[in-house]
Amino acid sequence: MKRKKNNYKIVLIIFIVVTIALFAEIGYLVFYKKDNEKSINNKEVNNQEVTDSNIDNNDNNIDNDIKDEPSNEEDEIINLLKQEEYYIENNLDRYLSYKALNPEKTNKEIITDVNCNIDKDFYTDIENSDLDKGILVIVNKYHALSSNYIPNLTTMENSYTSVAGAKMEVEAYEHFKEMVDAAKLEDIKLFNVSAYRSYATQDTLYTNYVKRDGVDGADRYSARPGHSEHQTGLASDINTASSKAHFENTKEYSWLISNSYKYGFILRYPENKEYLTGYKFEPWHYRYVGVEVATYIHEHNITYDEYYAYFIEK
Ligand SMILES: [Zn+2]
Repeated sequence: MKRKKNNYKIVLIIFIVVTIALFAEIGYLVFYKKDNEKSINNKEVNNQEVTDSNIDNNDNNIDNDIKDEPSNEEDEIINLLKQEEYYIENNLDRYLSYKALNPEKTNKEIITDVNCNIDKDFYTDIENSDLDKGILVIVNKYHALSSNYIPNLTTMENSYTSVAGAKMEVEAYEHFKEMVDAAKLEDIKLFNVSAYRSYATQDTLYTNYVKRDGVDGADRYSARPGHSEHQTGLASDINTASSKAHFENTKEYSWLISNSYKYGFILRYPENKEYLTGYKFEPWHYRYVGVEVATYIHEHNITYDEYYAYFIEK
């Protein structure tokens, strides 16, 4: 009987142990494993993040190598610049440098100024004027003609010039005559006072102006030799060449502003554009560029420097 009782105790103990073991196993399965899965999932997410951020870093490194530390802000600036009417891809680096130095300027001003080389001082980085452009050749403070360049000239008839023997480029002169004749029909009297000037003549003029007003003073109204549009034979000073005459207040000036483009002539140094052209307002200086180009410039109210940069040079 006692033995039977002992057997019963042993069975009971085994039962209890097995039961505890079972609960422990269930507990392990239910709680520990679940937690473990969670933490494994978390680890996977974390790993994923780590991998992603590694990729990001790699991308940034690649970008940095190419674009020199780009930021979203810079991308935004570039996008806005690209939307501007006269944006030139080759000028992008200069636009960005100039904008950084002139944060108060609008994007339109940034584009205009850099296209006209205003991010460089006048008479720096001077290139030879491209004579292959024909009547669209540019001559300004960044583009110069050689001392021996002489265009295809013709001598002007006395009824078109106050200076006997004045010369002008052949095509430009034909259109100049048409313009003067058309004006005459409306009782507007136009005549040339200075057309073609040789390099040597310009040299003498400029040297004398420097003696009188100094380099800075002379540079505001007189071109250095090689930099005068008059050497192209495509320009004419009409009726006067003096600010004191106030040609801008005459009916002749009004007529020219309204009509010169029809004959291929543009006002080359307009009022309030001194910072772009490098010359103070010259209401008398007209430049022949052909009817089509003159019409565009007239309608869009831009300088020839702007036109050339966007339509001819780029
Ligand atoms: Zn002139």
